[in-house]
Amino acid sequence: MLKVKEVKAKSILNKSKIFDYCLNPYTGCEHNCTYCYARLFMRRYSGHKEPWGEFVDVKINAPELLKKQLERAKKGIVWISSVCDPYQSLEAKYKLTRQCLKELVMKQFPVNIQTKSKLVLRDLDLLLQFEEIEVGFTIATDDERIAKLFESGASSVKERLNALEKIHSKGIRTFAFVGPLLPGNPEKLVGFLEGKTDKIYIDKMNYLYTIRGFYNHQGLEEATTDKFFREYKERLMNELKKRKMKFEVLF
Ligand code: SF4
Repeated sequence: MLKVKEVKAKSILNKSKIFDYCLNPYTGCEHNCTYCYARLFMRRYSGHKEPWGEFVDVKINAPELLKKQLERAKKGIVWISSVCDPYQSLEAKYKLTRQCLKELVMKQFPVNIQTKSKLVLRDLDLLLQFEEIEVGFTIATDDERIAKLFESGASSVKERLNALEKIHSKGIRTFAFVGPLLPGNPEKLVGFLEGKTDKIYIDKMNYLYTIRGFYNHQGLEEATTDKFFREYKERLMNELKKRKMKFEVLF
């Protein structure tokens, strides 16, 4: 059962090592991906006793706080989000990501949105107002069954692909994050992504030791080996080259 708590954050626009800033309107994530790296430290960091995926703190003052912080902040890319999905289901009710985007677009801060939810389509009107914006979906497999197993709360693969296509067709820069590599058919996945993204990032499973038990329980041990990641990567790369699609391998 999901425990939702409304909280007041002290800071919402925070420095990031990956982009200039990161912005997390929520602490916790309903998507509850088994491989989530945030689950490794966010529970302890936030003082929650519930398992990852079963609590979400809603930072209800995020938009007003952001407005204040933006008055003093040097312009830089804002990553939305680093340790939660900004379009998890609660966003449909609270609209915090939407309100934060309104503040950001007023100052024309560039944004990089990364999600696994079709709800991002709701904000297309705002996304189109940014001078610099990139919107990406994590799509780690073509296989719906596997996606459901590893990312139980996220939109289906088909829904993510449809949303990606729609955003791309509006002239917004898009990317797909194919990682962590999950079992599936790499050629089919590349076919699904063709014409919907400007760039594809490929990554392996990090912190594998934390979910080896889950793989074993599902009879998917083979997908944890170096051989699997090496071969899957090769097949993806070959198909991407064949279709002349832009990509970057991160491992
Ligand atoms: S969507 Fe991202 S932050 Fe949320 S559980 Fe999955 S990996 Fe973690």
